[in-house]
Amino acid sequence: MGKTALVTGASRGIGRAIARRLAADGTLVAVHYGSNEAAARQTVHLIEQDGGRAFPIRAELGVAGDVDTLFTGLEAGLLTRTGQARLDILVNNAAITADSIETITPQAFDRLIAINTKAPLFIIQRALPLLNDGGRIVNLSTAATRIATPEQPYAMSKAAIEALSRSLAQAVGERGITVNAVAPGPTATDMNPWMLDNPEVQQMVGSGNAIPRAGQPTDIADVVAFLAGEAGRRVTGQTIDASGGCFLG
Ligand code: NDP
Repeated sequence: MGKTALVTGASRGIGRAIARRLAADGTLVAVHYGSNEAAARQTVHLIEQDGGRAFPIRAELGVAGDVDTLFTGLEAGLLTRTGQARLDILVNNAAITADSIETITPQAFDRLIAINTKAPLFIIQRALPLLNDGGRIVNLSTAATRIATPEQPYAMSKAAIEALSRSLAQAVGERGITVNAVAPGPTATDMNPWMLDNPEVQQMVGSGNAIPRAGQPTDIADVVAFLAGEAGRRVTGQTIDASGGCFLG
């Protein structure tokens, strides 16, 4: 039987590119989204157009019952299509950004942590019993954990993801499960609307990189696919910087 994957936040941006890439490798992909149903359906449509298999699951993260809602949809979707609720690949990709330390409110900080940090932890907790031995967990971080940026609260929320990935890798290694974080630099998605469809801005953003161009979602999807595939079997507990050498020093 082919592999199965859950990609959170797969309706748009990097998550969509990851879902498409994994599906192109023959994986049945659960395309999770929060509210943008049209975008999630478009991801599924693009995958099916390319001959792949996928289904959408709606679950707003960061609210009470979020993980229950997600796994009810995931398990039902997998059962219908494969006869069992087993997973091979989990990609924790959904996230939001937030204001800087000067202006962020306690409420906004709680929401940031609930979506970027708490949700991935409890998604992993629920996924582990479903995950086959030899499975893969990939968590999206950011190069902002390594580089000083004005986005301190966001960087905090993602630094925790890197710590989680490292210690969890140790705990599940005996099952042949790998756990890694992938850290993109600035990438042209809705998260950075000022970059989208603006080659001049993208060139300016990319000029600080060793590879002097801005990141595209497919750049990240290829790295995730490597970690999620057989070739990545010996890589675990790592944060893979996929920023094109953003401010190497
Ligand atoms: P986008 O803003 O383009 O897409 C965000 C995705 O997450 C959407 O699918 C969205 O669903 C989902 N999502 C957001 N909030 C929630 C929520 N509360 N509940 C459920 N789903 C939610 O993000 P990117 O593609 O840019 O980012 C993907 C990952 O890469 C993130 O982890 C981000 O931190 C990381 N990253 C991105 C960088 C960049 O420059 N773009 C740089 C470094 C890291 P819906 O469509 O339904 O709203």
